[in-house]
Amino acid sequence: MTAPPETVPSVLACRGIMDRIQQAAAAHGRKAGDICLVAVSKTHDAEAIEPVLAAGHRVFGENRVQEAKAKWPALRQKYPDLKLHLIGPLQSNKAAEAVALFDAIESIDRDKIAAAISAEMKRQHRTPELFVQVNIGDEPQKAGIAADELPAFLERLKSVHRLKVSGLMCIPPADEAPKPYFRKLAGLAKKAGLSMISMGMSGDFEEAIAEGTTHVRVGSAIFGARG
Ligand SMILES: *Cc1c(COP(=O)(O)O)cnc(C)c1O
Repeated sequence: MTAPPETVPSVLACRGIMDRIQQAAAAHGRKAGDICLVAVSKTHDAEAIEPVLAAGHRVFGENRVQEAKAKWPALRQKYPDLKLHLIGPLQSNKAAEAVALFDAIESIDRDKIAAAISAEMKRQHRTPELFVQVNIGDEPQKAGIAADELPAFLERLKSVHRLKVSGLMCIPPADEAPKPYFRKLAGLAKKAGLSMISMGMSGDFEEAIAEGTTHVRVGSAIFGARG
């Protein structure tokens, strides 16, 4: 038995987030259509995700390749136009699966990954959209390329790995105001001539919209707390 979409909390919450995106865009002179909501469904099973698909949402994010592989191929059969973003760290031995499963890979942050992704894109004739993850707070435990190494890395992605990068992604430090980090990432993207920016989560996506993001990654505010 499937509950009608309009009674499912995640469907209502997704609609609420879309409304807030619209309002934040309007407040900052932006078009809501230029901001993509990536609904982060990690840890939630296919049954929890499907109502949101049935209600018309099409862009989702997962942070683990294995988890995505277990639940998304069946959903994609039913909703072939969905777009799946990999937003978590990637190991080069998972590059083949990542290229096969995802429409966007947001966590390119080192040459080894870039080489593996590039090889798989050629082999599989697939062209997922690519984002470079920047360690915007210079946190030792966090993934991402350091901001000061970004220009050289972007150059190598082009000339060595033959990859076309669409944008930058970041996760700011957890317990600080995100605004300066959002502003810094937007500045780096602008300097590099990249049109896409992925930043902003459940607690701060409106601030990211104020700073020019094109993609917000919202999980718990749609699907509820993760167990
Ligand atoms: C889990 C996750 C999110 C979503 O976080 P919420 O606070 O639940 O909205 C966004 N980005 C990344 C990289 C994540 O891992």
